[in-house]
Formats: sequence, C-alpha cells, structure tokens
Amino acid sequence: MKPVLEITDLKIEFDTFEGTSHVLDGIHLSLGKKDTLGLVGETGCGKSITAKAILRLLPVPPARLVSGEILFGGEDLLKKSDEEMKEIRGRQIAMVFQDPMTFLNPVFSIEEQLVDVISAHSNRNGSRKEIDRKEAKKKAVALLGEVKIPQPDVRIKSYPHEFSGGMRQRVLIAMALSRSPQVLIADEPTTALDVTIQAQILKLLHELVERHGNSVLLISHDLGVVAKVCRRIAVMYAGSIVENCSTEALFNEPFHPYTQGLLNSILTFSKRKDAAQGIQGGIPDLIHPPSGCRFHPRCSRAMKICEIEKPSPVEAEKNHVVSCHLYPVRKVKSF
Ligand code: SF4
Repeated sequence: MKPVLEITDLKIEFDTFEGTSHVLDGIHLSLGKKDTLGLVGETGCGKSITAKAILRLLPVPPARLVSGEILFGGEDLLKKSDEEMKEIRGRQIAMVFQDPMTFLNPVFSIEEQLVDVISAHSNRNGSRKEIDRKEAKKKAVALLGEVKIPQPDVRIKSYPHEFSGGMRQRVLIAMALSRSPQVLIADEPTTALDVTIQAQILKLLHELVERHGNSVLLISHDLGVVAKVCRRIAVMYAGSIVENCSTEALFNEPFHPYTQGLLNSILTFSKRKDAAQGIQGGIPDLIHPPSGCRFHPRCSRAMKICEIEKPSPVEAEKNHVVSCHLYPVRKVKSF
C-alpha cells in the first residue's frame, strides 16, 4: 500500500551565530493510511523540526533545506507554493501543539475561535465551501462533545483561561479534527499535563483516531506515551532515525544500542533503582556533530568503522529497520 506521507533523505540545516547546525541528517519516514507512528527521542534530537518541516513551518532563513523530499499524496510538499501550503495546512494535515495556551487566543471565546476554524470548511478533495456561523456553531458544540468537554453548549462560551490545561488540549484536538484531515501530527500533546490528564488525553486521541481513520504522527520524548497510541515507533537520535519497527518489536527486541539504552534507563516496579542504567554522555552539539555514526561517542559497542562511516538503514528483520554497523547492509524498500 502506498504511504500517505513519505519523507526521503530529509536534510535541514540552521544558520546560527556559532555556525551551521546540522539538525536533520537524512530522515527517512513513511506513514500509511490509518497508520499510527510514534516519533521518539531525547529533547533536541529533531522531532519537532521534522513535524514543522512537513507543514513548512520552519523560518527560512535561518532554516535551510539541503536535500530530500516530503511526498504527500504523491506530491512533494517542499515544492508547493505558500498558497498551496495554506490549503494543505489544517485541511489535509493538521497539527496539535504542545502548549495549548500559546495557540488559543486569550481574548476570544472558545466559540469564536472554533467557529472561525470551522467556517472556512473544506472537504477532503480540497474544494472549499463556506458554511454559515450558525451551522459552524452546531458543529463546534458537537466537536466539543466528541472530545468529552462536559456541557459543551454552555462551556463553548468560555475563554481559554477558564479551561484547565487538559480541557484546552481537548479544544485544540477538536480544532485539528474539525476539517477531517488525512494526517494528524501531535507534537508532545501531553507533556504539559499531569499524569492522570495525560492518560485521558491519550485515550481520547486513540478513540478519535480509531473513529475518524486519520493517519497519526505522534511526537514524544516518552516511550510510554507513544506505546499507548502507536502501532509503530521510529526512534530518533541527533537528527537521524536510528530504528523503525512495530511497537511490540521495539519493546521486546530493540536492535539499536541507543534504543536498548533508552529502554534500560526506564524504571519499572520490577526494576530496582540501581538496576536502571542510563546512557553515558550527552546529546552531541549539532554544529560540530560526531563523524560517522553520531551515537559513536556514547555507544558501548562502537567499532572503528562507526567513527568513519554513517550507517545506512538496514531491514534487519521484516519491517524492522535499523541504522547501525552491527547489522549487515541489505537494501531497504520502505521505512
Ligand atoms: Fe554503536 Fe556503531 Fe551501531 Fe553507532 S553504528 S550504534 S556506534 S555500533
């Protein structure tokens, strides 16, 4: 089956006062129809940059595209005009951001903001039809009900500051789903929330995606969060995808030393605090990234070749792709 979204060899650099930061170093990713893919990695590894690159939200300059393509419905988003991207954003690819307070306008009610988004409505093939505000309000109330805001017909009159963090995030999810986008990108949607609300939002996201059939790219630094929602997980390190496989395979038999280190560092009830092992060292400076495999200064299994040559993605097992010299090179058809 053809992927809905396919990223190939995406390289992006940022010009900074200290020098060029090589933030994305050849990303390969694909998202199928009704697929749920989690993108995990430490803060600063390039997860949010990847999401913003898909929607062309990176400021140019300082961001600079070095190479790659982002195919959506077979067309390269990187070659679209700004006008064409406006039609795609929200209507075909929608995004839920980390901090809902930043993306909701504090001086307008939830009703005004939600109705505005819905009013310029379009169907899936991109043709736009205006719907009147009365009809839009009905839809807004229904959407708030769908994201489980109690008394949606009353609460819709509230302002963002009158909602809790979890409720604001529900409003953003309702906004993102209001145009039935094919792809939903959720960038750390639960990071600002406490653990109970986080679980509620993840459950809601999971239910909505099942009901609406969107393809989802869920970005998080928390493996536990993506495991609750995603069928597949891609692990990112210092601007590259190092492992991409099913959620089950990743937890049962991770191949990449970085993924193994991440899983070893998670504390569980059965693992004593002193049995958890962190990964030595810290994330590299992307202005002067390590040569070869960017993980080599922290890898306990590093070999001579790791310092010299960047490993290519290899399908070590069916649908289990890993970029590491420990695995023999074979051609990879899809990621
Ligand atoms: Fe470690 Fe080498 Fe594999 Fe990189 S390529 S993860 S340094 S073994």
